[in-house]
Amino acid sequence: MPEMPEVQAHAERMTQALAGTSLAKFQLINFAGLKTFDPPADGAVGSKVVDVGRRAKYLLINFDNGQSHIVHLMQGGRLRPDPKQSKKPRNGIARWVFDDGSAWLLTEAGTERKAGIWATDGDPLSAVALAGLGPEADQLTRDELAEILAPHSRRIHGLFRTQSVVAGLGRMLTNEILFDAAISPFANASKLSEDELGRLHASLGRVVNSAIEHERTLDHIGKSADRPSKVHNRSGEPCFGKGCAGDKRKRCTDTVHTVEYRKYTVFYCPTRQTSGKILADNTTSKFLK
Ligand SMILES: [Zn+2]
Repeated sequence: MPEMPEVQAHAERMTQALAGTSLAKFQLINFAGLKTFDPPADGAVGSKVVDVGRRAKYLLINFDNGQSHIVHLMQGGRLRPDPKQSKKPRNGIARWVFDDGSAWLLTEAGTERKAGIWATDGDPLSAVALAGLGPEADQLTRDELAEILAPHSRRIHGLFRTQSVVAGLGRMLTNEILFDAAISPFANASKLSEDELGRLHASLGRVVNSAIEHERTLDHIGKSADRPSKVHNRSGEPCFGKGCAGDKRKRCTDTVHTVEYRKYTVFYCPTRQTSGKILADNTTSKFLK
């Protein structure tokens, strides 16, 4: 699933391509894809795109009549330029056609059918679709992060992916941030030390920023397998880290370990994050679920 950096870079690409062009037509191809009835999504026809913004993992196509189309790609959704504009596009959900003849097509691969569009009037940030989202992960000060984590006696890995607590992080960023910060994925979020909180906050900024920089070099949202990572998707590989065992000059000699769940995997370096302890999840088993 695209996470905040992929969506951010994509919003910037879309702004570059679309700002100032008028919406000529909004074609709903799969009716289940439009999640709102009022205002009608084609109410933006004839209006110019102001910009394409982002909130958490949502794209916000903002028109100059005050309407916005909020788009969530979920797991398999893609929103790309559509030069062919074929009548029955494969996996098509909706198409935006602009007055310069260009078009963008929302598709969703797979059978989940979760990607969607919400049309709103007024400030999109107060739209129902975005209500309940926590603050943007990379905008938090250290103290705000501490305040957000304190009430949650839960594993930090799960909490970081909970969009109502902090918005924008998914599995990959969470794995990479916790590795960077040398914090166990199973650490209790409410019991982090001052030192750990400081490291977590610094790593959050560092990892998110470098992911955004990488995404900005691409023409489109890439596959998660192609994103640079230190531990994510590197099960059993030698750890890339320097200083995992304490000496900053030394390459780590450990391998990347995992905890497997039915729908995702936690990746970590035991030497760096758990004092060498191998994590096993006793609360759930992939064989039972
Ligand atoms: Zn390591």
